[in-house]
Amino acid sequence: MKNILYVSPYAHIGGGELSLLAILKNLNREVFKVEVVCYEEGQFVERIKETGITCKVIKRNSFFSNFSIVGSIYWLIRKKKINLVCVNSLDIRAGFAAYLAGVPFLGHLRIIFPFAWPDFLFVRLSARIMAVSHAVVDGFCAHYPQLRSKFVVLLNAVEMPLGIIPVPLRDEFGLSNNAWLIGMVGRIDPYKGHAVFVDAARLIKKGIPEAVFFIVGEEAHDQEGSHYVSVLKERITTCGLSESFVFSGFRQDIMNVISALDTVVIPSLELKKKGGVLKEGFGRVAVEAAVCGVPVVASKVGGLKEIIQDAVTGILVSADNPQELAEGVVTVFKDKEKRLSIIHEARKNARLLYGLSGHMRALEGIYCSVLGIKQDNDNPCMACGNTYFGRLEQDSGYEVLQCVRCGLSYVDPLPPEELLKERYSRDYYKPWLVRQRKARVRMWKRRIKIVNRFFNNAGRLLDVGCGEGLFLELSKADGWDVTGTEFSSFAVHYIKEKLGIEAYEGDVTDIDVGSEKFDAVTLWHVLEHTKNPLEVLKKIRDIISDNGVLIVAVPNLNNKISQVIYRFLKGKRLHLFSPADRELHLVFFTPASIRMVLDKAGFDVIEVVPDYGCIRWQERLLNSVNRLFYLISGQMVFDAFEVHARPRERG
Ligand SMILES: [Zn+2]
Repeated sequence: MKNILYVSPYAHIGGGELSLLAILKNLNREVFKVEVVCYEEGQFVERIKETGITCKVIKRNSFFSNFSIVGSIYWLIRKKKINLVCVNSLDIRAGFAAYLAGVPFLGHLRIIFPFAWPDFLFVRLSARIMAVSHAVVDGFCAHYPQLRSKFVVLLNAVEMPLGIIPVPLRDEFGLSNNAWLIGMVGRIDPYKGHAVFVDAARLIKKGIPEAVFFIVGEEAHDQEGSHYVSVLKERITTCGLSESFVFSGFRQDIMNVISALDTVVIPSLELKKKGGVLKEGFGRVAVEAAVCGVPVVASKVGGLKEIIQDAVTGILVSADNPQELAEGVVTVFKDKEKRLSIIHEARKNARLLYGLSGHMRALEGIYCSVLGIKQDNDNPCMACGNTYFGRLEQDSGYEVLQCVRCGLSYVDPLPPEELLKERYSRDYYKPWLVRQRKARVRMWKRRIKIVNRFFNNAGRLLDVGCGEGLFLELSKADGWDVTGTEFSSFAVHYIKEKLGIEAYEGDVTDIDVGSEKFDAVTLWHVLEHTKNPLEVLKKIRDIISDNGVLIVAVPNLNNKISQVIYRFLKGKRLHLFSPADRELHLVFFTPASIRMVLDKAGFDVIEVVPDYGCIRWQERLLNSVNRLFYLISGQMVFDAFEVHARPRERG
C-alpha cells in the first residue's frame, strides 16, 4: 500500500475542489491509501468526510500559523508513513513540509495567477506539477521558463452521470414557461466577469425579450469578492434589470441546475494584478455544460480557448466585450440548427477528452512514476492479482518487484534455467556434507520434533527440495516413510545411491509421485527458490492427505534487525538477489504475503512461528536479539519463519 496525503488549502467548493473529490472517489484504493488535510473548515471538508475519507483541518488564521501548518503536515507525513504528498494547488507550506520529511510532492496547477517567489520555489522542489491546460503552463513559464520540464498537462476530469434530470428552475423561481434561461455558474469573483454579463444582459434583452439571467454560485470569501455581489446588484438595478436577474446562491445539484439552463455564459476576464495577470486556467463549467447538453458562449481566454473550438463546440468571444457576448448569446438563441450542432459536437468532445477513467489512468501513471511503481497488467501478482509493483532493488539486469497490495516480492525477469542448474551442482552441497554435518544433524532433529508435534504416529512424509537428504535420512530413522523431490541431479543421485531413499528429480509441479497421499509435506527453505510458489503449493494441496500438515520455512523479508546490523558492519544494504550469489532466491515472503499465497492454494494457516534453524553462534546471538524485539513489539523480525498449515476442505 502506498500512502498519499492530499492537501487542499481551500474548503469552498470550486472547480479544483470538485476535481479533487472526483479523484478521491475514483482512486484505486487497493493500491493507494488516502489522507486529506485542509486549511479551513467548510463544505469541501464535509463532502470529503461523506466519502469515508478522514480530513484533518489545520487552521490558518495568522502569519505564525504558516509555521504551524508546516510543522503539522511534517508530523502527519512521519506519523502516517506518507509516501507522496499531492497539493491541490501550489502551496509552499505543504511543499516545504514534504521536502523536510524527504517525501516527493506533486502540485496541481489549475489557474493562471500572478505567480510569486513561493510558487517558483514550490515548483522547483516538486517532483512534478500537473497543469490543467497548456495555457496554465504557458502562464507560469512566461515568468519561469527554466521550470517547463516540471509540468505535465493533465486535462481535468468531469463526472458524467447518465440521465441528468434538470431542476425545474422556472417553477422554483416563478418564471413563465417560455422564459429563456441564460446562466453564469461558479464562484462570484471579479475575474469571472459577472459585470460583463450584467452589461451584456441589457443588450441580450433587446434580441431575446424573454431572457432571464441566472447567477449561480456563492461569493468569493476574500476581501475583493465580499463586496462584489452588492456592486453587481447595484449595477443590475441601474440597468433596470432587477426583474430579469436571479441569484440562486450555492447549489449542490450543480449538474441538474446547468442542464435546466438554455445557454451558459463564461465571460471570464484577464485581470491585471500586481505582478501578473489572473485568468481562467481551465473552465470546468464549459465541460459540465457540454455534458449536460447546454451550449456555451465563453471568453477567448486561458484554458477556455483549449476546451472550446469556436463555432464548433461553443462560441468564443473577446474578453471584457459585452457587445460580442450578447451577439453570441443571441446567435445561439436564434439559429436552432447551429445550437443543436454545437450541443452535439461539444458533448462528443467532452466524453472523449474529459472522462474520468482516462484521467484516473493518467493520474495514477504519474503517481506510479514518481513513486517508482511499475504497472504490469500482463503479469498480475500471483497472490492477490494486483498489477502495481514497487521496485525493491535493481542489480545486473534483474529487479526485485514488490506487490504494492500484499507485499509479495519476486525477481524479474526470472534467471535462466542454466544458471539455476549450475548453482545446485556438487559444490553447493559440499559444505553441508562435510564441515557443517554435525550442526546440521542437530538442526534437523529439532525440525523432526516440530513435525512430530502434529502426529501421533509417523506416516508418509514428502520433503520437497530435499537437498542432500539428511532430513530424509533422520526422519526415516525416526519411523517415517519418506520420499524426496529435488531439482539438483547431483543430490538425487546421492540420495538414491548413498542413502537408499526414494527421490524424484525435477520441479515438484512436474513430478508424478503416485496416487497415495502424504501425511506430512515439508519445504525447508525451498519455496523461495521456486519460480511460482502458488503452483507448487497447489500441487502439494493435490498430494497431501486431508488431515495432513504442511510445514514451510522461508527467509523473512522483514528481517529488519539483520538489515540494520548488516548495514552497520558492511556499510551497504543487505541485498536480495544477485546472479553471483550462492543462494538464488526468486521469491521473498513476509508472514502476511505467504498467508495470502497459502490461502489461494487452498491451505488454512495454523500458525506462523520463528525459524531458529541456526547453526553458528552468531546466528544464535542474533536470534536472541530478534526474540527480545519480538516479545516487545510483536513484530516478526527473525531472519526466517515457519508456517504450519492444513489443507482446507474443498468446497
Ligand atoms: Zn499481491
